[in-house]
Amino acid sequence: MLKILSIGRDTLSRLAKFADDALPMESCALLLGKEEFTTDTVHDFVLLKNNDQSKYSFSVHSRDLFHAYQKASRSGLSVIGIFHSHPSLPWPSEKDKKFMELNPIVWLIYSTLNHKYSAFLYSDGIIPVQINSIQGMRRSTSLGNKTTSLTF
Ligand SMILES: [Zn+2]
Repeated sequence: MLKILSIGRDTLSRLAKFADDALPMESCALLLGKEEFTTDTVHDFVLLKNNDQSKYSFSVHSRDLFHAYQKASRSGLSVIGIFHSHPSLPWPSEKDKKFMELNPIVWLIYSTLNHKYSAFLYSDGIIPVQINSIQGMRRSTSLGNKTTSLTF
């Protein structure tokens, strides 16, 4: 069964710019949206701080994740995907594969090397996800560094 990620062209360019601007570090974001049959549609996204501040890996502070999930829930959306960038080709690393198995939602990877996207999903193994880029404006919210000062 082919999984499709439907995502706005402007969202793809915003995420690409976010990742290019953060070089040489990897960047990450959460994709919010809705799942219908085999298609996940991105309606919003939350740019996140790479807690690793690494060129080869990323992690997200639990407070940032909590905030992102709250935002999704307030908008009636789900967290349907994880975005991160690679300074190499957009294929999952060994570490990515382990975390994909733990988080079996769509993983969207952007290469700051060749400026291409690819997407994958864990479902009895790593399978490719088809990216459908669509027209349309999408909102976004940057959490930046401010989240660490928020209390819940
Ligand atoms: Zn990776």
